[in-house]
Amino acid sequence: MAKRWSTPAAESLRVGPGFDFAAFDTAATPGWEGSRKKAESLTAENGEEMSELQERLYAHGRTGGTRSVLLVLQGMDTSGKGGIVRHVMGMVDPQGVQLKSFGKPTPEELSHHYLWRIRNALPVPGRIGVFDRSHYEDVLVVRVNELVPPDVWEPRYEEINAFERELVDAGTVVIKAAMLISKDEQAARLRERLERPDKHWKYNPGDIDEREKWDAYQEAYQAVFDRTSTEHAPWYAIPADNKWFARLAVAELVLESLEGLDLDWPAADFDPAAELARLERS
Ligand code: ATP
Repeated sequence: MAKRWSTPAAESLRVGPGFDFAAFDTAATPGWEGSRKKAESLTAENGEEMSELQERLYAHGRTGGTRSVLLVLQGMDTSGKGGIVRHVMGMVDPQGVQLKSFGKPTPEELSHHYLWRIRNALPVPGRIGVFDRSHYEDVLVVRVNELVPPDVWEPRYEEINAFERELVDAGTVVIKAAMLISKDEQAARLRERLERPDKHWKYNPGDIDEREKWDAYQEAYQAVFDRTSTEHAPWYAIPADNKWFARLAVAELVLESLEGLDLDWPAADFDPAAELARLERS
């Protein structure tokens, strides 16, 4: 485990029983004892290690292995999900990463079960899948905006747990990262988007409509944490007011998961010495 973490990220950030979102400090840096500068250099170092381990995972997938990783990113608008994709997952070979963003469902998606589009986007063996939003929208935005009645969204928590159990049993490590910012921090980030012409493209007037339902979202997130932070697919609560910490934390979680796979380079299905001899003769 890396320098300056007093506790492994997977331990200090894991959402356990009794987790109280209302009391959560979104500006804290739990488990981290170093400076911001140190965090940034460690994030870069982690990127190099992630790259090497990701290549092993890819090689394993190419030779019949079944393992994969799925990073699920959830969070309110401006919480930094895009930054994680760019700055953390951007450090590994794009060929090894399968990125999928989930926006408002299309008419075709709506005509299917809500997990249909999710299943279609799952990482194949050897890949790291990254979901920018996910099936959790179906118990977050859908619940808050009453897009379906409670008797429809209510059973989804159990269904999601069973679905993730299936993924884990098939060889996927599921890392669920909730990027948590304060309401004030969101205001500052939205203000910046409005004040800077180079950020206007990121601004969506609908973001204010969702912001106005902040408390209902807090409640919906609390239910997600209470009901879907399972042994097989736990949630990690990422304090995200400090982007540098959020990036370090997610990089660390992905790295710890890749290390946990404990994969070796696959054995050659040919005789390297004989092939070398052939090469020399050719
Ligand atoms: P972001 O805010 O993530 O940067 P964006 O504003 O560019 O993204 P999209 O990525 O097109 O917008 O879509 C995100 C929006 O889609 C969010 O408001 C999200 O709540 C909504 N959304 C995602 N999944 C669902 C769903 N299952 N039902 C309804 N709305 C959904």
